[in-house]
Amino acid sequence: MKRDEFFQKLGQVKFWRTRGQRAPHKPLLVLLALGRVARREERLARYEQDLEGPLVDLLERFGPPRKAIHPEYPFSRLPHDGSWEIPGKESLPATGQGDLHRSGLIKHAVTGGFPEPIYELLRSDSGLVQQAAQALLYEHFPYSLHDDIRTVAGFPAEFLVQEPPGPPYGLGVLRPSARPRDRNFRHNVLRAYDCCCAVCGFDLRLENELLGLEAAHIKWHSAGGPSMVPNGLALCSIHHKALDRGALGLAPIAGEFKVLISSKVYGESVATRWFWDCHDAPLRHPRSSDFKPSAEFVKWHAREVFRSPPRDSPRQPTRGNA
Ligand SMILES: [Zn+2]
Repeated sequence: MKRDEFFQKLGQVKFWRTRGQRAPHKPLLVLLALGRVARREERLARYEQDLEGPLVDLLERFGPPRKAIHPEYPFSRLPHDGSWEIPGKESLPATGQGDLHRSGLIKHAVTGGFPEPIYELLRSDSGLVQQAAQALLYEHFPYSLHDDIRTVAGFPAEFLVQEPPGPPYGLGVLRPSARPRDRNFRHNVLRAYDCCCAVCGFDLRLENELLGLEAAHIKWHSAGGPSMVPNGLALCSIHHKALDRGALGLAPIAGEFKVLISSKVYGESVATRWFWDCHDAPLRHPRSSDFKPSAEFVKWHAREVFRSPPRDSPRQPTRGNA
């Protein structure tokens, strides 16, 4: 098997996405398997001992907030797309839709992994492992989360690298319709907010250069969010990361927006100022009302990313895990 063939195979994986809902189950399972190859682990992993726990962990941290998590679905559905193998799958008990039961996966000590030709190709080319991981991350998650996901998926330290800007190698094959990021987005968003963080007002400069100020997508670019100012916010690096992880959210209030901090965020000292003081505070106004965040994108973020509920005592410092 050649590199492009592999990417074509990966491109055949059907990633369920409807009405803007995120479903990163399959990409996270493939990333987990790529992490195993990067660590030189065996081709087939045991569902219960090797995959279920780490996949639940990835889904809880980086998946959309959902009441129930079903790691058995991507595991049993990936073989349909040709880039996953479950030895003995045909003899396992399945639902009417063909999904394998979690209890059966455990009872029969089921294993799964990349088919032999893909595994051998990846084993012989660690650059390809990196490129495949980058392409999947680019397609499903914002940049700010890429290294966190690689870390939790078990990639060794040498795989945690500064990624080149722009679409990664293989994405054009993996997903021909993938859109490049708009280079003017950062400039337009920072200008709309007068080069200040829309949450805390941070505006550090070294001579004429901005330090630690970024343009964030409210609805992720990878989820189809457009690179236009009403889908953007100028944010300091900390608040950008917090927005992308769902520690920070937005809510409409009287035609404007206010900042919400998740009740799942803990911290003391500086965190008090960076986070608790911002909770329930109005979002900074852009220089024109045309640039205000669009309610549609804010709603998407609240549903697909924000770790609700928000804390309920506005602007009261919290101590410890209280
Ligand atoms: Zn900030």
